[in-house]
Amino acid sequence: MELRIENLSKRYPGGAQALQNVSLNIPVGMFGLLGPNGAGKSTLMRTIATLQEADSGRAVLGDIDVLRQKDSVRRILGYLPQEFGLYPKVSAEALLSHFATLKGIRSGKERGDVVEALLRQTNLYDHRRQSLGSFSGGMKQRFGIAQALLGNPRLIIVDEPTAGLDPEERVRFHNLLSVIGQNIIVILSTHIVSDVTDLCRNMAIIHEGRVRVAGNPSELVAELQGRVWKKSIAHDEVNSYGERFQLISMRLFAGQTMVHVFSPRQPDASFEPVAPDLEDFYFATIKGFIYSAQTATVN
Ligand code: ADP
Repeated sequence: MELRIENLSKRYPGGAQALQNVSLNIPVGMFGLLGPNGAGKSTLMRTIATLQEADSGRAVLGDIDVLRQKDSVRRILGYLPQEFGLYPKVSAEALLSHFATLKGIRSGKERGDVVEALLRQTNLYDHRRQSLGSFSGGMKQRFGIAQALLGNPRLIIVDEPTAGLDPEERVRFHNLLSVIGQNIIVILSTHIVSDVTDLCRNMAIIHEGRVRVAGNPSELVAELQGRVWKKSIAHDEVNSYGERFQLISMRLFAGQTMVHVFSPRQPDASFEPVAPDLEDFYFATIKGFIYSAQTATVN
């Protein structure tokens, strides 16, 4: 099964062109949708999740027309939105069981089995009797995944999942998604580059409503090889470097400012080569150094 998105566009009544001819092919596995705040990620995710309408374009999941056959999509979709309300006084087990009833699992025995399996899969079984109000951020996110997995979805959409998680919770959450992503389409929408580096076989960068680039993270980063250079400079030199060079990033490092610049060849002898990473690729793309909207290659 594959999700094919073709020329999806959306303009909000207020005037923001949130999506502009977005086309993407999303295969089974973890897919990272990376972009800064306001890029259009949530608009795209909510449209695929049948929660809002596009102005034009198509999306097809297997043989389902996503924008028209909404009930069919909802039967095979799990959605973990950026913010979701939980009843703080209810136990994890009771609420998941309630959601299972809403999903149509009527037999009490079957519901009990499904709820237990999901609580075990998300490592929450030992906390099943605890009220959701007492859960940590990571536990809440894992509960969100448990509810998204009800009814054996073929597509899971996870919007900005790791913001606010501590490093240990983040790793645990990533491991859970990796296992799920072995068999179904998991779209992970995020502005955190390392979420994608660690997890995703395929990705796209979206910026100002357009797909700038799509592909395999390591192959994309390899395209930057030999074109990223670093130099340690004084902080008050940053502006003048920004004017003279294509500045990918600047970072304070041991009291000095380390800049990464994009350049097809060594700018001068004072710059050293850098083995580029996805963060370099992301900023070089967002800043228009390597892909402009006109030249975006989309598989
Ligand atoms: P992201 O999820 O990448 O942060 P969004 O899809 O939320 O991006 O937003 C894309 C653009 O659409 C932004 O300019 C945002 O301000 C605008 N936008 C989002 N939701 C609405 C809305 N309900 N009404 C008007 N404008 C919106």
